[in-house]
Amino acid sequence: MSSDAHDVVVAGGGPVGAALALALQPLKVALVEPRQPQLRAQDVWDVRVYAISPGNRAFLEALGVWQRIDAARVQLVEAMVIYGDRPGSRLQLRADEAGLSDLACIVEGLAMQRALDAAIDELPAIIRYCPAQVANVDLAGAGATVTLDDGTEVGAQLVIGSDGRDSVVRRAAGLELRDADYGQLGVVAHFETTLPHRGVAFQWFREDGVLALLPLPGNRVSMVWSTSRDHAEQMLALDGPALAAKVGSASTGMLGGLRMLTAAAAFPLRYGRVPRLVAPRLALAGDAAHSVHPLAGQGLNLGFRDVRELATVLAARAPRQDCGDHALLRRYERARREDIATTGLSADALHTLFAARSGITAAVRNFGLGALDGMPVLKSLLIRHAIA
Ligand SMILES: Cc1cc2nc3c(=O)[nH]c(=O)nc-3n(C[C@H](O)[C@H](O)[C@H](O)COP(=O)(O)OP(=O)(O)OC[C@H]3O[C@@H](n4cnc5c(N)ncnc54)[C@H](O)[C@@H]3O)c2cc1C
Repeated sequence: MSSDAHDVVVAGGGPVGAALALALQPLKVALVEPRQPQLRAQDVWDVRVYAISPGNRAFLEALGVWQRIDAARVQLVEAMVIYGDRPGSRLQLRADEAGLSDLACIVEGLAMQRALDAAIDELPAIIRYCPAQVANVDLAGAGATVTLDDGTEVGAQLVIGSDGRDSVVRRAAGLELRDADYGQLGVVAHFETTLPHRGVAFQWFREDGVLALLPLPGNRVSMVWSTSRDHAEQMLALDGPALAAKVGSASTGMLGGLRMLTAAAAFPLRYGRVPRLVAPRLALAGDAAHSVHPLAGQGLNLGFRDVRELATVLAARAPRQDCGDHALLRRYERARREDIATTGLSADALHTLFAARSGITAAVRNFGLGALDGMPVLKSLLIRHAIA
């Protein structure tokens, strides 16, 4: 054990923690992660995909990560079309209308993780504790001490909790989580389609939830259907052709016939936020600090924006200033407050608006979609927020 061997211990090497370890260079970083680096074959399609904003793509490029992702596994999103649950209610957002080449890139979770892990492999300054997990964090001494599950103690000036939604670091630090269960699951699966998607991401706001079909390379799409637990369980019980037929009909035949490519999986959907992102010698980032409804595809984008801000704040500290300095960490907290609140609340408000069954609310939301479609300035503002 050492009491101050590292500048920073990053707990959790998922996409946010791995990007943090890279972005914090040249600090001395220890990265703790229970899962072995991803070794799965390239030709396996990962059912979890991320819509990465152009701002975060540029950040990953600057870290030398984006270039490592096989370009054949990345799909540009050139437009988004959102349908309400009344005929004719539709909103289309096109990248070219905002002077952009694309609105986002769709990339598989494993492809992203492999690229991050490979970039870390080339930096011997990042010390990996893997497979290992953080069992406890002690912030009472002159430095922070992290205890791993095998009893190893790792000392640092600062501990960053990027250990996901059930963060042990957050709990150990006594930081409150305000968490609401949407009572929904996100059902995910990939399909092959008989008609091309032309780089369009589709979303249908339906009585039974929100169905999103995100474009993948070739004639493939990734589905996220956010829906009630009962409905999700019914879908999971269907065989491939039956689920493909159900999704084909819910998507109004927009992409022709569908054939299932992966088994369906489901994730619980929650709205979680922490009133405090930091404590002396401790900061939270990514899903450890917030979880948002996936209908806006912003969960990981929010986490990468945490990483960008935290790395900027730490890089700008005074010479010899301690990385765990509370005043320094408060700067990170203040800078992130608005984006986290706005993104979480917007996704929550959209969910609430579209979950409402009342005729008036339905009329308003459908009218709103159609009206917004005719407002180029507002549409452009929406796009500007989504691409950060
Ligand atoms: C259905 C669904 C669809 C989604 N779609 C999108 C999308 O299109 N776009 C998007 O941006 N986001 C999306 N998200 C959200 C996205 O998956 C998360 O925001 C993202 O994975 C968060 O990354 P993270 O690194 O913070 O946490 P995680 O990915 O949860 O990683 C946490 C890491 O910490 C490790 N860990 C856990 N416990 C410990 C411990 N005790 N010690 C050390 N390490 C530990 C874990 O092994 C893991 O590697 C979606 C989410 C869902 C549920």
